[in-house]
Amino acid sequence: MLLFLTILAVAAAVGIHFWWRQKFRRQQRQVQAKMEEFQRRQQQTTIDGNAQQQVLFNSMLEGLLVIDRNHRIYLANRAFKNLFGIKTELRGKTVMEALRMHELAELVDRAEGAGQVFDYELKLPELSERWLQVNAATISNSAGDREGTILVFHDLTRLKQLERTREEFVANVSHELRTPLSLIKGYAETLLDGARNDPAITERFLKIIERNTQRLDLLTISALESGRIKLNLQPVNVHPLAEKVLGDLKARAGAKNVKLVNNVPDLIATADENRLEQVLANLVDNAIKYGRAQGAVSIGGQKNDADQIEIFVQDDGPGIPPESLDRLFERFYRVDKARSREQGGTGLGLSIVKHIVQNHGGKVWVKSEFDKGATFFFTLPKGEKSQLRD
Ligand code: ADP
Repeated sequence: MLLFLTILAVAAAVGIHFWWRQKFRRQQRQVQAKMEEFQRRQQQTTIDGNAQQQVLFNSMLEGLLVIDRNHRIYLANRAFKNLFGIKTELRGKTVMEALRMHELAELVDRAEGAGQVFDYELKLPELSERWLQVNAATISNSAGDREGTILVFHDLTRLKQLERTREEFVANVSHELRTPLSLIKGYAETLLDGARNDPAITERFLKIIERNTQRLDLLTISALESGRIKLNLQPVNVHPLAEKVLGDLKARAGAKNVKLVNNVPDLIATADENRLEQVLANLVDNAIKYGRAQGAVSIGGQKNDADQIEIFVQDDGPGIPPESLDRLFERFYRVDKARSREQGGTGLGLSIVKHIVQNHGGKVWVKSEFDKGATFFFTLPKGEKSQLRD
């Protein structure tokens, strides 16, 4: 009996042991599976985090360069690589190895020494100059030890170009205005000193003064450029306006025996009438000035598409050399400087035309073949006839 009980107890103990062991194993497996799942998720989060970081850095417009505490590149974003024209992997290289630029390597040293560098202007050694503004700062951990250096690069090229254009403009303006203003001053003083008592001299001097004030076109152009001129947009009937412009320039054309023709069909533009008159007057005046004596100048036009009309001014003069076609609408550009000056030109007329047309949302261009005349085209938004004022 005792033996039987002992065997039963042993069997029960063994059974309980196996039952516990199995249960324990099951739990162990579950814990392990949970741990694995946790690790997998953590890895995924890190991968997602890195990918997000990568996307973020690569979507930045500024170039970003991060250097680790061993002076090696840890990260260079896409903008940085584009700015420096680099296609290879930079991670792990020193700045000098990666870019071969002493100035930049020195800048990194300076930032590491001083803790930061602000607004450093760096010129890239390329054919087409590129200017960068660099801001750099060191990154430290909570114990104050330097972990690395971060540099941010802004592309300053466009700003520098604008600055240069502005400087050139100011220099050109002062240069262009110096002579006419001193002439105006001189003739006005001579008139005040007594010349005004002679009507013939007065007339001649006043004409000289008037001609020289044409240079004040410069003021129109700077107003147009800065957007200070507001357009008074209305439906404008182009044919009668062309007629008026041709009428005003009849005497000038007559002096060269140039025939003026109005071929504008029934066209309505949405435009500022005074500004459109200025555009036509400039183009016709040029066509007379630079066209041939005994020639013909005409204004024409057509409906372009549903929303636009196209107007053109054509002459049969010597035309424009092909190499000048692209530059004609630039400020102060003149094919023949001496000839233009002699005619009282400033090289600003076409630039004013371009600004006015563009302010209307239109385009301006020229077609010309050597010795076959020139045709200047521009587009304007179409207007509604029913809304024309009498
Ligand atoms: P400006 O007449 O004051 O010199 P514009 O800006 O009106 O300045 O014209 C720029 C230059 O374009 C002129 O100097 C001239 O050389 C050239 N040009 C303009 N219109 C014509 C044309 N119809 N035929 C030939 N050359 C032209």
